[in-house]
Amino acid sequence: MAIKIGKKIKGYSVNQPDDKNRHDSSVAVAPVVTTAEVIQMHERVERPEVLVGATYKIKSPLFEHALYVTINDIVLNQGTEHELRRPFEIFINSKNMDHFQWIVALTRIMSAVFRKGGDVTFLVEELKAVFDPRGGYFKAGGVYMNSIVAELGAVIEAHLRMIGMLHDPDLDPEQRQLIAEKRAAYEARAKKTAGPSSKNSGAAPSDSAADNTGGESFPASATLCNKCNTKASILMDGCATCLNCGYSKCG
Ligand SMILES: [Zn+2]
Repeated sequence: MAIKIGKKIKGYSVNQPDDKNRHDSSVAVAPVVTTAEVIQMHERVERPEVLVGATYKIKSPLFEHALYVTINDIVLNQGTEHELRRPFEIFINSKNMDHFQWIVALTRIMSAVFRKGGDVTFLVEELKAVFDPRGGYFKAGGVYMNSIVAELGAVIEAHLRMIGMLHDPDLDPEQRQLIAEKRAAYEARAKKTAGPSSKNSGAAPSDSAADNTGGESFPASATLCNKCNTKASILMDGCATCLNCGYSKCG
């Protein structure tokens, strides 16, 4: 059957022999084809004898003893292009047994979520949003933790980043440059106000001095950024700018 083309042709592609099938079966068949050879995470995936993992230490002023969080991963489709490393189970150990029943309950539920498959990254946000009514605490580098549970969320986040299931929200180069400029201007101003007398004051903490708590350092006078929960927000010309994530608010 001849078809008369009335409009301008803007683009074209050549039909492949299997194109017709793909077209007709639309979305429904495609996943079935892939699951036939690629193993996806779900409850019936059996635990291998050996799993790889990492153990993280959580030290909080709210707990007398450190918590040790172990997350073990399963590697699916190893050696193929569909190789996927996913968290499989989580354990928490501590000398402190006060909260043990809740910790066991939480880790069992989280492990079950891991094994269900699908998107597990929501756990990070859920946990990080848990507030301790007694108040949170600052971590090294000026990151504020709402609670121990929130720090557990941060640990899982770090782990998911390490295995490539979460990615750093990349700042674009312009934003990076803006942050660097803001920082330079702020530090220059802080130096000026400190004056030459600060030279002789020896150990007196200067405003631009990095707090030696590890991680990326921000000016000591920086306040908590509401977006990234890091003590990195500086006030310049009536605008608060975060030197960590670039969040800016004026007025
Ligand atoms: Zn921020």
